[in-house]
Amino acid sequence: MRRTLEQIWIRSSVEGHVFTYDETFAWPKAERELVFSLALLRRVEDADWAECDACAEAHSEDVVFLDEEGSYPVIPCPAVGLVRISPERLQRWEVDFGVVAKLLGAAFGLTGTLQELKAGRVWLLGSRRLAGRPAEFFLAQGADWPDGTESLSSTPRLQNSPAPVVLFPSRLPEDPVWQGNGRALYSLRELVRLGESGLVTTLEPLEDLYRQIATRLEEPIVPTAVKERLALVKRFRERHTCRVKDVYTWAGVVREDFYRWQRGDPKVPDGGDKANRIERLLQHDRKTRF
Ligand SMILES: [Zn+2]
Repeated sequence: MRRTLEQIWIRSSVEGHVFTYDETFAWPKAERELVFSLALLRRVEDADWAECDACAEAHSEDVVFLDEEGSYPVIPCPAVGLVRISPERLQRWEVDFGVVAKLLGAAFGLTGTLQELKAGRVWLLGSRRLAGRPAEFFLAQGADWPDGTESLSSTPRLQNSPAPVVLFPSRLPEDPVWQGNGRALYSLRELVRLGESGLVTTLEPLEDLYRQIATRLEEPIVPTAVKERLALVKRFRERHTCRVKDVYTWAGVVREDFYRWQRGDPKVPDGGDKANRIERLLQHDRKTRF
């Protein structure tokens, strides 16, 4: 069986996720208590259905209240008739990412102020030295949701951070645009577990991969020959079914500069910051780790 925290990370990456009372009750007692004392979960609206626990049949039914205060919920059971449900069994929770962000900052030993850059989706957790260089740490939720890449393109602070560490609750996003600008992507499932009294992080796997990715960012970029640029852009757009606008937005340059680069205009010189950002995006379009 998956450990409690791993279950939490996996579930929390689903849009509109909830945990039922029965689910949290099935967790090992010590882990459940720790999860609640850390306030990783926050209450959401109660369920209006419940699973029957009075007969051998596994069935869920809509809850009916026999009093006006809602303190006497029942469900109909074909075998035993009306079954009283303990009101606490209707409680539900979701992961409180504001709390997660705060705890991660402390667990990774980050300094700087925690900032929610995009409500409920992107946080700057802080920064620290990693593999001998300063690295900013971000947390991104819903990178795989339909508007996932938008949460990157509409957050310049994240988009322009050189070689940051970007954490995701569970699966890493498949869209390679996330790997641009030397971003090292990690799943909380790989790095964070429940310790005796809080979240515990493992930095070793992070450090090695981070070093490789960050080094690549510093490698000189070989400029694409001007006559091949249009084809390079075209191939990139086909792979990502995206518009030209997405390409220059992801590269973090304005439209005019993008076209200047494309036609070899010396106003956007090869080896300059703008040209490098475009070339890195288009050339480093590599597959995700898993
Ligand atoms: Zn029943």
